[in-house]
Amino acid sequence: MKKHNFYAGPSILSEFTINNTAEAVKNFAGTGLSILEISHRSKEFSAVIEEAAALVKELLEVPEGYHVLFLGGGASLQFCMVPYNLLNTKAAYLDTGTWANKAIKEARLFGDVEVVASSKDANYTFIPKDYTIPTDADYFHITTNNTIYGTEIRKELDSPIPMVADMSSDIFSRPVDVSKYDIIYGGAQKNLAPAGVTLVIVKESAMGHVNRAIPTMLDYRTHISKGSMFNTPPVLPIYSALQTLKWYKQMGGVRKLEELDKAKAAALYDAIDGSKMFVGTAVPEDRSIMNVCFVMKPEYKELEKEFIDFASTKGIVGIKGHRSVGGFRASIYNAMPMESVKVLIDAMKEFENNH
Ligand SMILES: *Cc1c(COP(=O)(O)O)cnc(C)c1O
Repeated sequence: MKKHNFYAGPSILSEFTINNTAEAVKNFAGTGLSILEISHRSKEFSAVIEEAAALVKELLEVPEGYHVLFLGGGASLQFCMVPYNLLNTKAAYLDTGTWANKAIKEARLFGDVEVVASSKDANYTFIPKDYTIPTDADYFHITTNNTIYGTEIRKELDSPIPMVADMSSDIFSRPVDVSKYDIIYGGAQKNLAPAGVTLVIVKESAMGHVNRAIPTMLDYRTHISKGSMFNTPPVLPIYSALQTLKWYKQMGGVRKLEELDKAKAAALYDAIDGSKMFVGTAVPEDRSIMNVCFVMKPEYKELEKEFIDFASTKGIVGIKGHRSVGGFRASIYNAMPMESVKVLIDAMKEFENNH
């Protein structure tokens, strides 16, 4: 049976990415060797990492003065690397969920952290909008897409100071004004590649302004100066990332991807809003187009488990909600086709009719 993969991360990748990665595992770039066993300093792999960085720059229109890095450690290591390299006295953070909180916790190890606003009391069902960003902070950190709660900041914020963004789960789903950011980062396993690599876009002139020694591996300047090759980078995930980036370009770039993502999300939210059984958890104006969170209304609550089983008979996997929200979460990242979203919508309708 065809599977419809709604996992939140690691998550669906395009067939193009999977097939080309599988091919390279057997024979990489005609070398007669597997991508798993080739030197990261070979000319064939150097070409891969260079092309991947160039495609990131092209797709996101990254301006001069920025570097594209492929690092290990996940987005979670960036929670620490960002303040290590940028926080001198004070940083401002917007608390929009679990991941934002983890970033705040790390930043507190390095200096004052002003949490400008939080929607924690409402279980993160919305993105706070009324707050003032302190102009004496070194940077303002946001999480553009809250993977667990299904809320998203899709409009570029107005900030008087440089921003830093965790875009792990919505990068490449819209154009970004990179010039507003000192650092943009994202774990690859949501919209780019298998787990193991973290994409980091860093502004070179923002480095070198903190009064502390930075361990070599945690200093962005190390990786900038070595083109992400200071040590062995995650070779296979970078190869897969290149395939996804090529596919994004073939698909028409981030504007086109955004259009497709919005259409998928609109179809699913319409089905939820039109249902007597299901209800969305995030406020409509802040709904994510990547992670659609919904639950059953109180009178149907005991049917949640049954719906997950029913959906699995249609090939639908990965829709169980995160424990902090419950119910369901359908992650509909860039590689998710509309056909799979329709299968989910049909399953919801059929289940509702049966009860
Ligand atoms: C998944 C996720 C993370 C954690 O990424 P790791 O690569 O596992 O460290 C951080 N932030 C957001 C928004 C995420 O979705």
